[in-house]
Amino acid sequence: KHTAELIAAGEVVERPASVVKELIENSIDAGSTAVTVAIVRGGVGSIEVSDNGSGIEAEYISTAFVRHATSKIAREEDLAAIGTLGFRGEALASIAAVAKVDLLTRTEADEYACLYRQAGGEELSAEAAARPVGTTITVRDLFYNVPARMKFLKKDTSEGNYVSDVVLRQALAHPEISFRFVRDGREQFHTPGDGDAMSAIYAVLSREFAKNLMQVSYRQGVLGVEGYVTAPIACRGSRSMQFFYINGRQVEDRTLMAALETAYKGMAMQGRFPGCVLNVTMPLERVDVNVHPAKTEVRFANTGEIFDLMYKAVKSTVSRPDA
Ligand code: ADP
Ligand code: MG
Repeated sequence: KHTAELIAAGEVVERPASVVKELIENSIDAGSTAVTVAIVRGGVGSIEVSDNGSGIEAEYISTAFVRHATSKIAREEDLAAIGTLGFRGEALASIAAVAKVDLLTRTEADEYACLYRQAGGEELSAEAAARPVGTTITVRDLFYNVPARMKFLKKDTSEGNYVSDVVLRQALAHPEISFRFVRDGREQFHTPGDGDAMSAIYAVLSREFAKNLMQVSYRQGVLGVEGYVTAPIACRGSRSMQFFYINGRQVEDRTLMAALETAYKGMAMQGRFPGCVLNVTMPLERVDVNVHPAKTEVRFANTGEIFDLMYKAVKSTVSRPDA
């Protein structure tokens, strides 16, 4: 297909993990309480994300695959205060441009489900089908029409590990949603979806990690930090267990990382790096999430304020006598 479309698609879809991230975000935005992610051969073979969310109205399905079609931003100004995870209206169009996509969906109002098929951005068919309310999206043969992209993929195991990481991070961010992750037919984890952050941590991370956590609950005006950090004595040799979220959205951010680690300065520690599962709550206008299509980067209106908040939240926790 058209080069421009493929380049645009490449911005959003880099590897199977980016597909999974977008699909899970759509499931969350659709109000799902249960999401199943199943991949075959690291997601290169196939990716299936199934949810019990709102579903998509049959008449709207083909529109949902059009670039910049989104049901989530009504007006330009809404960009300034993005609450939902998806907001660019690029994911479905991008994925469909570089793979074969089956969408099976039904809303509460519809009697039948609709099975809609696309490949390389071309509509193949739409027919009536059966399904409970919700959506299942199956993505096959990723990059089948973009051999250059295909070459950049790593071994299936590595791609599968990236996918696992994406599902895990979402499962930690949303303890109120039951996440099931299946890899080559085998269940890797299944969170209960009972709303308890600790039960999600137990389900997806190691027991050893979970039992050495201290609870963080900190407020400073309209800003807040909630979650868990490693007790100083149980810190480890890598940063792989640091999970940060802002208003429930997973982020990678140096300021948050630095503030976390600085808060442990002078403590009796075994390893150098604390682990954490921490969610920062802040007014939407104080953080810009619209930096990059991959959307794990953020820009704060006031970085110093965020450092200070995170530092104090963690410091007050690890200074407790039970640390
Ligand atoms: P965005 O999420 O930025 O709106 P997407 O391309 O990811 O753009 O999705 C396009 C539209 O398709 C969404 O706005 C939504 O209306 C619909 N959609 C996609 N996935 C789902 C889903 N799992 N459940 C319900 N609606 C969905
Ligand atoms: Mg989306």
